[in-house]
This record gives sequence, C-alpha cells and structure tokens, in this order.
Amino acid sequence: MTEKAGKLKDYLETVSHYDTAITLIGWDMDTEVPKNGMENLIGTLGFLSEKQFALKTSDEYGKLLADLSEPEEFDRLDEAMKFTVRRYRKLYEENKRVPAEFYTEFVKARARSRQAWQEAKQAADFGIFCPHLQTMIDMARQMTAYGHPGEDVYEAMLAEYEPGMDGAAIDGLFGELKRELVPLVREIEEKGRPDSSEFVGHYDINAQKELQKFLLEYIGFDFDSGTTGETEHPYTTTISFGDVRVSNHFREDEAINAMFSAIHEGGHAIFEQKIDPAYAGTAVDEVYMMGLHESQSRFFENILGRNIHFWEPIYAKVGEYLPKFKEISLERFYREINKVQCSMIRTEADEVTYAFHVILRYELERAIFRDGVTAEELPALWNQKMQELLGICPANDAEGILQDMHWSEGAFGYFPSYLLGTIYDGMLLEALETELGSVDAVLAEGRILEITKWLNENIHRHGAMYNSREMIQRVCKKEVSAGPIIKHFKEKYGNIYSL
Ligand code: ZN
Repeated sequence: MTEKAGKLKDYLETVSHYDTAITLIGWDMDTEVPKNGMENLIGTLGFLSEKQFALKTSDEYGKLLADLSEPEEFDRLDEAMKFTVRRYRKLYEENKRVPAEFYTEFVKARARSRQAWQEAKQAADFGIFCPHLQTMIDMARQMTAYGHPGEDVYEAMLAEYEPGMDGAAIDGLFGELKRELVPLVREIEEKGRPDSSEFVGHYDINAQKELQKFLLEYIGFDFDSGTTGETEHPYTTTISFGDVRVSNHFREDEAINAMFSAIHEGGHAIFEQKIDPAYAGTAVDEVYMMGLHESQSRFFENILGRNIHFWEPIYAKVGEYLPKFKEISLERFYREINKVQCSMIRTEADEVTYAFHVILRYELERAIFRDGVTAEELPALWNQKMQELLGICPANDAEGILQDMHWSEGAFGYFPSYLLGTIYDGMLLEALETELGSVDAVLAEGRILEITKWLNENIHRHGAMYNSREMIQRVCKKEVSAGPIIKHFKEKYGNIYSL
C-alpha cells in the first residue's frame, strides 16, 4: 500500500470509531435507554456527530482524498481503495457544502422527531408528530439542496438510496406492477377471505425468541458476528465489522409476524456479515444500495420463507417451540403465510399487496417534493390513496400515516427500494434456479445453506462494489425488469387460490 493510501486508511479508522459509537447509541436509544436518560443521550449523540462531521469535512481529509485522486496515486491503488477514494471524495464534496451548524441542528431535530413519532404512534395522534414531520421535510429538502445544488431534490434523494435507478425507471417498473397486480389481487379477493382465527392464541415470548434464534441459525446468520434485540419496528444495524444486530417485535397473541421479521432481518444481516473481510475499513464494506439490501431480506423472507418446502424439514421443530403449531397442519400453515388480502400495515402485508403500500408512499413523496404538499395535508392524502390502491381506509393515524419510522428520521426516497428489492428477487430466483436447480427441491432436502452460500458468493461478498443495476446485470445477465416477479406471483398464487 502506498504511504498516502495508508494515511487514508488510518484516518478512516478514526472516523469509524465515531461511526461505531453513534450507531451503538442509536441502537441503545431504540432498545434500552430509560425515558429520563434520553435527553442526555441525545446530547452525547449530538456531540459525537459534530466531531464525526468535522472529521468527514476536514481540510486534511479533503486534501488526502484529492491527492489520492491524482492519476499517479490513484492508479497504484487496489480496486477497493479506488472505490473508496471515488465514493468518499463524492461524499466529502457533498458534505462540505452543508454548513456544520445546520448539520448539528439536523441531527438533534431528527432525534427529537423520532421520539415524537414514537409518542404519536402510541397515542394514535398525528398532531403530536406533525410539526416534527414538517421540520424533517424542510430540513431533508435543505440538506439535499446543499449537497446536490441544481439537481432535482427528489431524484437526488432516490439516488442516495438506490443509485442507478432514477424516477423514470421506477415509474416504469411500478406502473407495470400496478397494472398487473391490481387485477390479480381483485381475482384473489373474489375467492373470499381466509379464516385466521385458528392462529390466534397465546405464544410465550421467550419461546418465540428461542424460535427466532433457531430460524436465524437455520438460514445462516452467524451469532459470533451478530446479536438480537427488541424494538417497536424490526430493523438491522451494523455496529462495526463483525457486529451486526437484528431487532424484532414480539406479541403474545400472534407469532407468525415475528417469525417472518426474524427471517427478513436475518437476510439483511447475512448480507452484512458475509462481505469479504478484505473490504473491512473501506467504503466497499458500506452497502448503501437499499434496494439490493432489501432484495436479500425479501429473498429469505418471501422467495424462501413463504415456500412450503422451506418449512418441510423444520415444521415439527416450530411445534416444539410453539406447541400451538402442533395442532395445525403444514398445508394450513402454508396457506396462512400466503394469504393475500388488502390490509393497513405495510410490514404485515402479504408479498403481493405489499407493492401497493410502497407505491402509495412513493407517490406521496413525489407529492411532497415535487408538488409541495405539506405535513398537515398528508393524512388525508394517505387515506385517499389507501382507498384507491387497496380499497380500505385506516381507522386512525397509528394504522395509517404513523406506522413507519422512515419519515421521522428524514429518510425520504427510501421506500421505493423495498419494492425494487422484490423486483430484483424475481430475477435472482431465475438465475439461482439455472445454477442450483429447483429451489423447491433444495429447500425440501434441508439444504438451504447452499442457497445462502450462492447468495454469499454472487452478491454478499462484493459489498458495495457494484450498484444494484450492475449487480443484477452481473448475476442475471439481463437488465432489471418486473416480468419475472410478476410471473412468479401469477404462478404461485394461481396455484394456491386455484385461479
Ligand atoms: Zn428490510
């Protein structure tokens, strides 16, 4: 390694200590901190973020990145360091345009907004959150305008989470899904609603946690490089290389959602855990393409987890943890985990109507950033679009606009990536079956780790080296299209519902 490259690595190591502390505090705020400790922790978070921001915008760092961008230095770098210099120089220039005081204010406002969102959700009262949401909209818009002067704000936001997929591409893909899936769901709904009452019961929380551990291990989550916690809204976070955490939300009267959240977050975590260790400390280790990330969680959750053969080898085991399932046949369980019905909560939606939840949020974000719609106007718009797309209307804000945390953090432009992940999954399934043969057979024989390994080799180990579009090109040898996932849904649900 050249002297300058070594210097950059050392510098990035210092930055990474702040990153670790900040992420760990975020995790603690979500999982452990008592009410009266929150304000102090927000103060510490603000302090550390300020230091971190100063490091990421310092002249010393800028000069190092500029020097390393000179051809004679750049050409001597390995691929990972080339990627790192390119990416961090771009981020440096974006950050540099954001005034430090503004950034500190943004971090504090974001922490308060998350807190207000939690309270508002509990009270089912949008009014508590509304002013904070408007602040997040305004500050996110301002932040993007600083970082990307002259660019369309919403395009820049989309590119932040899913580079390579712009608004026009997303409009095309989502439009096709809407055209194909609305009639499919209508056909399914005509078959009548399945009765789920059999699944309501008492499920011991500790037993659910044990089952979560079993499922995570079954799909390939490494507990030496990860752990679990509880939050209102399940998510995955990487504290540092070798420390990937997944959270879950358990309920006593219902166990299936937590099982699928475990598999979903496990998919995210396995991606993070399997990035080539050679990339530790470089930008390749930071997977920022959220659609690609989501394609991995959804591949485990939906393509594998909602396949009957996934459960064949382990269904008896599920009954050992949660005896209620001993009374329910695997066939009945399979139909329950694949029931399609229009419902309020995105994270609890089936894989088909899920698309409508994402399209709704995408259309609202476009309305906010392209048409200037305000926070105050959003609940009514939300309800109107629910009616349009799903034919139902929330009874209160908690099951409507307050259900997701994303906007409370100022994360706009993130939602489309969820559905893009599903679209990629259709393509990845085709590619995987070409190489490994029928997924049904591999799962039925309990060889799921061969699938995990295929994903590790083809996708995970590369980290952020390729954006989603490039990755799909490499693995599937095709451009991104919605055709394969639509075909998958039509076949699968055609069978289940005898359409
Ligand atoms: Zn996810």
